[in-house]
Amino acid sequence: MPKLFLHKGREQPVVRGHPWIFSGAIQRVEGEVEVAGVADLYDSSGLWLARGCYNPKSQIRLRILTWREEAIDKSFFARRLSHALERREQSLSGLTNAYRLINGEGDFLPGLVVDRYGDYLVCQFFTAGMDGLKGMVIDALRHLFPRMSIYERSEGSVREEEGLLPSVGPLSGDEPPELVVVEENQLKFLADLRGGQKTGFYLDQRENRILLHSLSREKAVLNCFSYTGAFGASALKGGARQVISVDSSRPALETARRVLDLNDLAAAADDLIRADVFSYLKNCPRQFDIVVLDPPSLAHRRGDVAAASGSYKFLNLHALRVLRPGGLLLTFSCSQHIPQELFQKIVFGAAVDSGKRMQILKKLGQPIDHPVSLHHLEGEYLKGFLLGVLD
Ligand code: SAH
Repeated sequence: MPKLFLHKGREQPVVRGHPWIFSGAIQRVEGEVEVAGVADLYDSSGLWLARGCYNPKSQIRLRILTWREEAIDKSFFARRLSHALERREQSLSGLTNAYRLINGEGDFLPGLVVDRYGDYLVCQFFTAGMDGLKGMVIDALRHLFPRMSIYERSEGSVREEEGLLPSVGPLSGDEPPELVVVEENQLKFLADLRGGQKTGFYLDQRENRILLHSLSREKAVLNCFSYTGAFGASALKGGARQVISVDSSRPALETARRVLDLNDLAAAADDLIRADVFSYLKNCPRQFDIVVLDPPSLAHRRGDVAAASGSYKFLNLHALRVLRPGGLLLTFSCSQHIPQELFQKIVFGAAVDSGKRMQILKKLGQPIDHPVSLHHLEGEYLKGFLLGVLD
């Protein structure tokens, strides 16, 4: 096992629980310096600090798995997974059979995401170190969920940065069907585990869907960036008079239609609109009681923040324009690089430009199955507001 030694005085963040060690903090490496895998971390005086996943090719050289001298083996993963499962079962059993079981750093397992969709588990291994531990993770998952099938969706830019190719396909049991039916809050949703966004569904918006459900009676709702229509179905189930869903993806809208049918929810053919939300909102001739604005991440890198801020402002300004007096806006940003305070300022700017007076009814964020480590606030990506407009 390689040994990493920190420069003098660089141990403080580790001791305080931050899981990432950047290359600049490391003074020297002993052992197999070229190979990604489990490594030990020491301070400059040789005192053992932590154990984690090492990648000599990544700027983040080590991602800490434990601050205790425990073996990283199947039983380590079994302990972490059972702990995470217990938390989810405590809060979500009876409400849904789809949730995030492991949320990377937020569950103290950097580089690993595991989502559950009924009898299917979808895993994502994002780092070279965690990729090397795949066998142990799968063994532990099989042990914990003996009847479930496991599918892998390891892809995306983080893997590229780690020097890894995409790896997608079945790992254990049956390959999932084209669409998997999951249940949440007495609604059925469809998740495309093999090719859909994320691992197939926006599990992270569950609490906000339930909130919308509770607000929608007799309302006319505009659902922007609807994807497969999960917010829209929740609004209709909550008694909405009409829901207009707008998305640029034809397959997503086709699935949205199937979701409505599956739940016996009525919507006219032209209530599902394939359009660019930016131009739809700009040209929209009518008004709504509730607008949902849930765009994809508009700032993938820190350098995108200025341009993204402009886009968020445009969207929020035009959303406010189509809002009736007394209406509600549910507005979100899922960009990790746009913190809550900045997003609030952007929305404030839109409110000022619109001439409307707004109140924050609720700050919105990630649900209980997307925890954030208190020691790694970088994991907080989803933020939003439920805003009320005066007139
Ligand atoms: N609100 C959804 C998730 C939104 S994901 C849910 O809760 O399930 C973002 C969606 O925005 C994707 O479906 C993508 O197809 C769509 N999209 C991205 N850019 C768009 C644009 N300019 N106009 C319309 N839709 C867009």
